[in-house]
Amino acid sequence: MSDCLFCKIAEGQIPSNKVYEDELVYAFRDINPQAKTHVLIIPRKHIGSCAEINGENSKIIAHIFEVIPKIAKSEGLVNGFRVISNCGPDACQSVHHLHFHILGGEQMSDKMA
Ligand code: 5GP
Ligand code: ZN
Repeated sequence: MSDCLFCKIAEGQIPSNKVYEDELVYAFRDINPQAKTHVLIIPRKHIGSCAEINGENSKIIAHIFEVIPKIAKSEGLVNGFRVISNCGPDACQSVHHLHFHILGGEQMSDKMA
């Protein structure tokens, strides 16, 4: 999508602090970290949110979940980590390109909402 912030980040049109990339996904540090380590992983292909995952694009999602443990390892998250995807207004999704937050590097709250 031409006017999507995360499409532009994945394409390198807007700078970001890259953590990982391959032909399907791009991962970078969140600009406003909510934990000591806060990485976002996105599909290069524009998908709006978890609500748009379907049989046509779910291979990319599977790939994202193969890459997440690699990132957790390279970030040294040996004591665990949290994966979150906010979907839609009730969940306060603010960027409408599917992304998974990888949070860790410290003890986090036991509350998720
Ligand atoms: P959401 O609220 O949609 O779940 O998460 C969007 C995330 O994107 C937020 O954590 C926010 O800090 C991050 N973010 C927004 N704009 C930028 C940006 O331009 N660069 C980076 N690296 N992160 C961003
Ligand atoms: Zn996009």
